[in-house]
Amino acid sequence: MNTVDRRRLADLTSRERARFAEANPRSASAYANGKHLFGRTPMTWMAKQAGGFPLYLATARGARVTDLDGHTYIDLCLGDTGAMAGHSPAPVVEAVRRRTADDGGLTAMLPTEDAEWVGAELTRRFGLPQWSLSLTATDANRWAIRLARAITGKPKILVNSYCYHGSVDESLIVVGPDNKPHIREGNVGAPVDTRVTSRVAEYNDLEGLEAELANGDVAAVLMEPALTNIGIVLPEPGYLQKVRELTRAHKTLLINDETHTFSAGPGGCTKEWNLEPDILTIGKAIGGGVPVGAYGLSHEVSERIEARKDLDLIDMGGVGGTLAGNALSVAATRATLEHVLTDEAFAHMTALGTHLAEGTADAIKTMPWSVTQLGARAEYRFADPAPTNGGESHAAGDAELDDYLHVYAANRGILLTPFHNMALVCPDTTKDDVDAHLEVLEAAVKELEQDR
Ligand code: PMP
Repeated sequence: MNTVDRRRLADLTSRERARFAEANPRSASAYANGKHLFGRTPMTWMAKQAGGFPLYLATARGARVTDLDGHTYIDLCLGDTGAMAGHSPAPVVEAVRRRTADDGGLTAMLPTEDAEWVGAELTRRFGLPQWSLSLTATDANRWAIRLARAITGKPKILVNSYCYHGSVDESLIVVGPDNKPHIREGNVGAPVDTRVTSRVAEYNDLEGLEAELANGDVAAVLMEPALTNIGIVLPEPGYLQKVRELTRAHKTLLINDETHTFSAGPGGCTKEWNLEPDILTIGKAIGGGVPVGAYGLSHEVSERIEARKDLDLIDMGGVGGTLAGNALSVAATRATLEHVLTDEAFAHMTALGTHLAEGTADAIKTMPWSVTQLGARAEYRFADPAPTNGGESHAAGDAELDDYLHVYAANRGILLTPFHNMALVCPDTTKDDVDAHLEVLEAAVKELEQDR
């Protein structure tokens, strides 16, 4: 097996970090001066950077980001999907400008007519007939979970091991090496032991899922149709259909979180693979960079909720937020769906995603790694064959390799998502952009292999 020489990897990473520090004095100084921000950055995760400090954003347009030191990058991170529509797409900028004009109004606790357009378009794409808006995918998931508990009367939520659905308390649980559920390592201030609120099964493990559902206490299975936050893990043939059968048989709702899997097509995996969730959650990309989230409900679910007159859906019942559905977010979402992340744009992005996946497979062919594509995104993982569940994929993680590959790419004008070896394309990404990335990846791999 082709393994990495750790001494060589450490030397190469030091060399790349030195180059990064030298090339980015203004970002380095902005970070060093970050005295009033906890963790020096506006959110603690922003400090996670392979180069030792984050690049600071100056401007961004289309598939390009320019940093404080004036370097322009081909951006394959795209805000970890928040900018899947490209940076500052013209129709979104125009919609924001219209709303921010003198008498535009940004948030008023009043609905705008754009919202019905957005609901209808989400229905066309994903199939679910009723929609509600949030500001983040996390909140869409939180509220979907509350609704599921309310109408099923069951207490627990089942998730897949090593999933990510935002900072959702119920989701921070994994299957441990002893095959038992464990609180996910690092879970900050859990309100209760996650095993009280949740059940967990490995993705692609139907037996494990069935055994957990048989307890009869699971309100909903919350899952990504394909895992995307522990590498990309695709469903084995028949898996998702069987998940649907099992959830129906156990009177458990199925929530598809399409926040990342939206890359599969204009209606996400749900449309692409004919899935039939009871609830669908999404966020990030659909606002074109402006915060928004949404959840869709099936007829049956919306009727069951409406029949429950005891549920406070208006005031303090635990579902809703003051800025949810605000005029600015809704206008940006309409512009994104109507003019930017269109069916035609997805055709271009998916073709490019295929080129990216094939080229990546070629660039890493000497390594025992694998690549997985989900429409407009592709990710390589340090395991071959590709992992089939979250636990296996977690075990294939390699933080040192990640750091090297990320800082190497940044030094050569390519931005990747800090938490992934994932590359995502947007409507503005070109074949040349993808080829530039592939060239850099191949060079990084070759350097790792020299003298071995
Ligand atoms: N669901 C999935 C599948 C995600 O990947 C994420 C974030 N990476 C979220 C939900 C949460 O999104 P946000 O942080 O914007 O709330």
